[in-house]
Amino acid sequence: MTDVDGSRRLFIAGAALATAPAASPAAAQDGPKQPGAPTAPAAADYPKPPFPVQQQPWPGLASQMNPRPDHGETSYRGSGRLAGKRALITGGDSGIGRAAAIAYAREGADVAINYLPAEEPDAREVVELIRSAGRKAVAIPGDLRDEAFCQRLVEDAARELGGLDILVNNAARQRTKPAIAEISSADFDATMKTNVYAPFWLTKAAVARMGPGAVIVNTSSEQASDPSEDLVDYALTGAAVLNFTKSMAKQLAPKGIRVNAVAPGPFWTPLQVSGGATPEKLQKFGSQSPLGRPGQPAEIASLYVAAADPALSYSTGQIFGATGGGGQPA
Ligand code: NAD
Ligand code: MG
Repeated sequence: MTDVDGSRRLFIAGAALATAPAASPAAAQDGPKQPGAPTAPAAADYPKPPFPVQQQPWPGLASQMNPRPDHGETSYRGSGRLAGKRALITGGDSGIGRAAAIAYAREGADVAINYLPAEEPDAREVVELIRSAGRKAVAIPGDLRDEAFCQRLVEDAARELGGLDILVNNAARQRTKPAIAEISSADFDATMKTNVYAPFWLTKAAVARMGPGAVIVNTSSEQASDPSEDLVDYALTGAAVLNFTKSMAKQLAPKGIRVNAVAPGPFWTPLQVSGGATPEKLQKFGSQSPLGRPGQPAEIASLYVAAADPALSYSTGQIFGATGGGGQPA
């Protein structure tokens, strides 16, 4: 574990920066917008397919993607919606989890992120971004397929943050496999462990430390109700997470703990370029959505804020969607 305010490991501002152009070049180069300027890059400027051919070894790095995803680094502006909250975000190094981490910090939360050791370069950028927002950042690498690690992760995050108000279950494994014969038991097991068991273990550990006002935010997918033929094991975990969100919302309502989920459509993240999609599918990624392009992580961060926002105190068991016009799982 690494508390960036401590001395166990040094995080360097600006370490491991871009090797590829950002998804929103104007926003990335201009720096933070002036007061009164638009708070987000114009959606019309976001990249559309076709995308350059690319493939990375799993789990992939956002810093190596071309174009680089926009996680809201230069655009997200907070307004204190999560002031004083303490959040743990799995998969907080890249993609949707990174966008949530940036947004949470700028909304006033202290944030612990979990990720795999191979993702340290991406994680360092996120830690620096959280610190730049004036919030405490805690980095806890480790593999969520291990129950004992999941328990330790929640314990360590709660200890370092001084408590736990928000758990964001966002990490996931997605591998494209054209035929069921190609999904080994080990594959199936790894997908279930990462996408279903880990949220179960983390929720169990978190609930034991949470009080009234706490929130759990899960991550499902449009795949939950409209599964692709090549994502058989992954898609069913999206449905499981949706169902888990609803049962736990009912179970935890009397304790004052809310449970919501966010359901993304196609988003431009490392998950997709490190085996989640075929290179052919990647080139035209997002073209089938009515908006004709993939979402950028920055475009979904606000939903993670909303799902945890104390102002939305009547919203539990809800599914918040950003699918670019595709179907919304219910
Ligand atoms: P991403 O690759 O940026 O994030 C996924 C993260 O999961 C990784 O960064 C990694 O840290 C983590 N992870 C995977 N296996 C792990 C393990 N065993 N232990 C610890 N961490 C592990 O990709 P993303 O697209 O931002 O994914 C975030 C969430 O969004 C996932 O739940 C994914 O299923 C969901 N989602 C993504 C899309 C999309 O098109 N990108 C669509 C629907 C849902
Ligand atoms: Mg990652």
